[in-house]
Amino acid sequence: MKTIFLTAAHIRRLIGIAKDALPNESCAFLLGHNYKVAEILSMRNIDQSPITFSIEPAELIQAYKLAESKGMEVIAIFHSHPTKAWPSSTDIKFMEINPVVWIIYSTTESQLKGFIHDDDGLIKEIDIKINGFTA
Ligand SMILES: [Zn+2]
Repeated sequence: MKTIFLTAAHIRRLIGIAKDALPNESCAFLLGHNYKVAEILSMRNIDQSPITFSIEPAELIQAYKLAESKGMEVIAIFHSHPTKAWPSSTDIKFMEINPVVWIIYSTTESQLKGFIHDDDGLIKEIDIKINGFTA
C-alpha cells in the first residue's frame, strides 16, 4: 500500500480550507516530493457547488508553475465532500486522467481519506501518515 506523508499543521490547514468553503466543496493542491507533502496551495472552486469542484485553467497553470519554481511537484489533489470521504463517479473519471494522490475530507464525518488510480487501473485507498503516524 502506498503512503502519503503530511504534518498535523497540513491537516489543520486542509480542514480549515474545507470548513471555509462550506456549504460547497473546497479544493487544494499538495506540493512536495516522493509522497511527502511540503506545502498546501488553496485553490478556488469555480463551481461553487456542494457536489462538484472545478479549478480555473489559468489558476491551474499558475499552480503548476509555482510548484516548478519551488522545485516541487503537485503530488496530491485535495477536495472536500459534505458527504462521505469516498470518490464520486466524477472524481473517478478525473482520477484516471490525473493519477496523483486524491485526498478527500468529509466535512460531515470529519474523515480524511487518500486514493490513487493505480497502474492496474483500479482505484485504491492509500495510507495517510500524519507526523509519522497513521491517520
Ligand atoms: Zn469529489
